[in-house]
Amino acid sequence: MIVCKFGGTSVADAAAIERLVRIVAARAAERPLVVVSALAGVTDGLLRLAMTVHQGDEKALGADIEALLLRHETVALELPGAEAGVDAIRLEATALHSTLVAALGRRLRPAELDEVAGHGELWSSRLVAGAMANAGLPAAWTDIRPIMVTDDRFGRATPYVQVVNNRARECLKPLLEGDLIPVTQGFIGATADGVPTTFGRGGSDFSAALLGAALGAERVEIWTDVDGLMTADPRIVPSARTLAAASYEEAAELATFGAKVLHPATAMPLVRAGIPIVVLNSTRPELPGTTIEPAAELERIGDSPIRSISWKRGITVINVRAPRMLGAYGFLRTMFEVFERHEVVVDVLASGEISVSLTVEDPARLEPVVRELGELGEVWTEDRRAIVAVVGIGLRRTPGLASRIFGAVQPANVEVISQGASAINMTFVVREEDGPDVVRRLHAEFFGAA
Ligand code: ADP
Ligand code: ASP
Ligand code: MG
Repeated sequence: MIVCKFGGTSVADAAAIERLVRIVAARAAERPLVVVSALAGVTDGLLRLAMTVHQGDEKALGADIEALLLRHETVALELPGAEAGVDAIRLEATALHSTLVAALGRRLRPAELDEVAGHGELWSSRLVAGAMANAGLPAAWTDIRPIMVTDDRFGRATPYVQVVNNRARECLKPLLEGDLIPVTQGFIGATADGVPTTFGRGGSDFSAALLGAALGAERVEIWTDVDGLMTADPRIVPSARTLAAASYEEAAELATFGAKVLHPATAMPLVRAGIPIVVLNSTRPELPGTTIEPAAELERIGDSPIRSISWKRGITVINVRAPRMLGAYGFLRTMFEVFERHEVVVDVLASGEISVSLTVEDPARLEPVVRELGELGEVWTEDRRAIVAVVGIGLRRTPGLASRIFGAVQPANVEVISQGASAINMTFVVREEDGPDVVRRLHAEFFGAA
């Protein structure tokens, strides 16, 4: 079997869903499982409802839910077969409206936010299943929540992989063996008690990978709006090229440092079984895309020692200077305990004799962290920073790359330089406003000018 995951732009409207149906039809003999995201923009729209609720604006809330419903109804009108899903969508929109009216004037709790945010996938998958059935494909709409069992860290849930594997085999295998094509949701899951959760933004890729691993897929296809994994984000570097192949590690590093085309956790479930991920363009399905596979199979790195450059904005650097760190042990542990206690994720770390610099993305819980770190030494933060990551297994065996990298980056000011232990990435911090230019200069250095 194979997994075919379609992102938001690949289900954005009736024309996109018609393309999806053709892509799946062409793969019917390979026993596809279809995983979909919400229609492009719908998850944002759902999350905005939370703000309207908080502001207590009942009229706007009604209008916003109506607009989301209309968006799905319009697709259904233009897409033969999709109307089969509309009744269920209407019922759920009405229920959502009642729930949110009851919460007017207050901030939604994380569990409530996840429940709201997950509607987009439930709705898109109904439209897709209807359109597939109409085209003669044996679509079986499946609610993934009882299968995708997670912990209760709402907004960033972790799956219980063993349970997911068992449930996926129990519930989805019989459908596939019966020659049905399950159509299900990415991004969402539920706790063992059935409370809805999500994997966080962009999490549908991870859902597809988990299901691919559970079912022993031959490959996991990620259908999106670009030709594959590229040498840089084409929105920043128009001359970016599509990679034929990349390793799991490279894809994970690139995604962690901002390449939105894949969720950072996507490769993780697939590594053990060596299941390849293929990133493909749903508007140009004839192109080969990028195959992400074990590094052993990857000797072709082309004429560049690096594979790709990514960047991530909205970063804060925390610096800790503590003379008592000199020659002392246990200091880093004490420091990291602070981050652990507040569940703040550290991306990049650089340390010297008496100082440590690290980066965090989520500013929400920064304040208590900084306060507690102040007990260890002098602390100062720098916000509006960006991380730039230069990634490639070629970095391992090509000496002298650091000078090439930092030569290309000048005159931008570089802070917090770090090379990952796997030596396939070089990351550093620049001011946010310098980020795009730095990426373009590095791209010109390693992949030639536009
Ligand atoms: P989907 O909705 O299909 O999941 P996303 O918007 O999440 O799609 O991801 C696709 C986008 O990722 C592309 O439109 C592109 O702008 C961006 N992107 C960032 N870095 C890269 C990269 N290295 N290669 C390809 N796309 C990238
Ligand atoms: N719809 C979700 C989001 O917009 C999940 C995804 O698209 O992967 O983040
Ligand atoms: Mg995505």
